[in-house]
Amino acid sequence: MKKIENGIRKIWFNSVRKRFEKEYLEISTLRNSDSLNNFITQKRNNLYIHAFNHCRYYRKVFEQIGLIQKESVDESLIDEIPILTKDIIRKHYQDIISDDYQTRKWFYNSSGGSTGEPIRLVQDDIYSKWGSATNYYYFKNVLGIDEPLEKKVILWGSERDLFKGGMEYKAKIQHWFSNTIFLNSFKMSEQDIERYIRIINSFKPEIIRGYAGSLFELCRYAEQKKIMLYSPRIVVSAAENLTNTMRDVIELNFSTKVYNFYGSREVSNLAGECKNGLLHLFQFWNYVEVLDKDNQPVREGEEGRVVVTNLFNNSMPMIRYEIGDMAILGPKICSCGQILPTLKKVTGRITDHFILENGTIIHGEYFTHLFYLKDWVKAFCVIQEDYSKIGIQIVINSTINRLDQVGIEKKIKLVMGSNCKITWNIVEDIPKTPSGKYLYTKSLIRR
Ligand SMILES: [Zn+2]
Repeated sequence: MKKIENGIRKIWFNSVRKRFEKEYLEISTLRNSDSLNNFITQKRNNLYIHAFNHCRYYRKVFEQIGLIQKESVDESLIDEIPILTKDIIRKHYQDIISDDYQTRKWFYNSSGGSTGEPIRLVQDDIYSKWGSATNYYYFKNVLGIDEPLEKKVILWGSERDLFKGGMEYKAKIQHWFSNTIFLNSFKMSEQDIERYIRIINSFKPEIIRGYAGSLFELCRYAEQKKIMLYSPRIVVSAAENLTNTMRDVIELNFSTKVYNFYGSREVSNLAGECKNGLLHLFQFWNYVEVLDKDNQPVREGEEGRVVVTNLFNNSMPMIRYEIGDMAILGPKICSCGQILPTLKKVTGRITDHFILENGTIIHGEYFTHLFYLKDWVKAFCVIQEDYSKIGIQIVINSTINRLDQVGIEKKIKLVMGSNCKITWNIVEDIPKTPSGKYLYTKSLIRR
């Protein structure tokens, strides 16, 4: 029976793979950094010229810097292309959409809703093919796993992602073919977590993929209740910042390595971790720059803002789009053999980090460390309300541990200043973001 099932799945997958085969083969021909760089330059220049000819916003900004002369790109000027922010997209929405988008197959995609109003993006069919090809490439070429055929459990927060295919029953059929069980992590009560653990332990998946926060909460629960978890071949953490503490807890409880997969709602997959712990950037479709506060590229080991140019969306080109994340640039070469350059670490959303009046940034992870793994803390969210005003929302198991509380305040004041005002709010529940993510820290200061 199993053999027949797997045979059916193979036939199904071969038909799915045909959709992005051409793109996958194109990625596979990039065998050294020269061919990668030539590929990027060619696709990037095509995109600039298309945007210049078809999008009023880009025509204006490219004219201002003189980027395009007689249908060719002056490459010495590409660093001067202004950064595209969410605010600019909102303001110039119609002028960023190309005047010929109706000539292509296209669809809408919304940006993440955790900060501000979501934006509706117009994306090409070819964009989704490159996204699928990249995902397949990561598992196949970086991790050596034929992902579509393996047994998978996906612990995901967003209903919209689960049922992307449309109707629920249609999605269910698709899940059977792709050998996948989806567990909705949008709301995880203790009963839900226990049920999910039972499912994982009986289904015995090769791959478990989920939001970093959801995987962490599930593992923390298993640890506290001393429940053994089935050990899959790999765990892939995505959609949220994976902190070192989260990684340790997930790896310990699943007894396997966690691979971090970095993507964003607006531009899809950006980088995936290799066995050496570096995140290889999928530069052949999402060209990433890591920039300092003066928009200059940072050096290896330095932290900066992540800015992305998606090379395959002519309907609404995203050129030098600041997605709101911070990352540390890694080495260009990795001993795993991948030709793609790397990030050392994604350090989280800009708004996860707190900022002092003098501009110093304190990592959100500093605050989450104070609460993680404390038995009396069920859930928490630390909010920077003002430069020296911190609000703590906390869900407790029984009573606050006063000694811990004093220690936490002391450590907050150590970085935020001795006159920082700290307020504690015991709450019943901390709501997740609209896309189902945990919010551990949040700064309300606009920057
Ligand atoms: Zn590597």
